[in-house]
Amino acid sequence: MKIPDEVREAYRLWRPTPVIRARRLEKLLKTPARIYYKYEGVSPTGSHKPNTAIPQAYYNAREGVEKLTTETGAGQWGSSLAFAGMLFGLDVTVYMVRASYDSKPYRRVMMNLYGAEVHPSPSSRTEVGRRILAADPSSPGSLGIAISEAIEDCVKNGCKYSLGSVLNHVLLHQTVTGQEALEQMRMAEDYPDVVVGCVGGGSNFAGIANPFYGERVAGRAPKETRLVAVESTAAPSFTAGDYTYDYGDTGKMTPLLKMYTLGHCFIPDPIHAGGLRYHGKAPIASLMVREGLVEARSCNQVEAMAAARTFIEAEGLVPAPESAHAIKAVIDEANACKQAEKERTILFLLSGHGYFDMKAYEEYLSGKMEPYAMPMVKIAENLASIKGLMPDSGSL
Ligand SMILES: *Cc1c(COP(=O)(O)O)cnc(C)c1O
Repeated sequence: MKIPDEVREAYRLWRPTPVIRARRLEKLLKTPARIYYKYEGVSPTGSHKPNTAIPQAYYNAREGVEKLTTETGAGQWGSSLAFAGMLFGLDVTVYMVRASYDSKPYRRVMMNLYGAEVHPSPSSRTEVGRRILAADPSSPGSLGIAISEAIEDCVKNGCKYSLGSVLNHVLLHQTVTGQEALEQMRMAEDYPDVVVGCVGGGSNFAGIANPFYGERVAGRAPKETRLVAVESTAAPSFTAGDYTYDYGDTGKMTPLLKMYTLGHCFIPDPIHAGGLRYHGKAPIASLMVREGLVEARSCNQVEAMAAARTFIEAEGLVPAPESAHAIKAVIDEANACKQAEKERTILFLLSGHGYFDMKAYEEYLSGKMEPYAMPMVKIAENLASIKGLMPDSGSL
């Protein structure tokens, strides 16, 4: 399928994004590995999220839609949809997870600059929000709750809801990064032995990894590239969840999705990587993990920030706390190359910059950062609550 001209024209504001060889990181780690990263932090909002916000706004505008609602965690998705809405003349209302609304005020200002309306979630504007606030007035919120609020607002007020990750079309839009990377690795006369990405809902990972899997299926790949997905220990659905049907949101407004999940009621600890605080994973990425095509790992936020610090020391760029999880696995891979004295090529997606995340880095530097790992007992409780959910005809 061709990318529509209007979408290409908007992409041209910052695409193609660079693939950079992290030579100084290689040196610092004394690894024989070649490390490349594709840097999505150069987009107007500083992450990979506009890659899907732009086509979603374009297709909605083309169908005569005037307003979109959505949720946002750290504010990356909300600011990206606000930006795309501005380009295509759409109104945007964003429900922002309370934990991030309080800790990342500048993302909210950015959304306001792009003309969007922003509400902390849970809010008293929706029934779902009011119900959750009644049970816990100081609820930090979660992506699952914010999604329910955005859908309820959209159903009641006759607009459209837009999701920034998880669903198949989002993963498809994000493959623009992997397709560019294929060309760029060709120009570098190299090819990855391993491709790494962090996973919240799974879109940036699938975006960089799936085109390489496509090459393999088509018989064009010179190597059996390994695909490594890194999640947070605070939301470990790949490594500790069930592969089953579940709702995409806490309020059970979405169709059922077959995915790795921790249960739609699961509220992850308030880690700084807000984009990784989600109970489920994309159906496509989940199936690939299930079939053994993707290796899943988890790391906690302290390990992730330590890896980011090593990266910063070598390369200077400050990565988003989400991307830091990928960097942890990249450094592990590079160290494994050193041990085995193997010259492997590692490619990862640096999904965004961390210039709005200084609070996270400040906390890390102070030594007071909580690692957060969800106890197995709590996971088991949540999983018991979704046993036996069966799909109807509207499910994905
Ligand atoms: C949202 C976000 C993520 C996680 O979302 P995915 O859909 O898994 O990609 C990762 N990194 C950054 C910078 C984000 O904004």
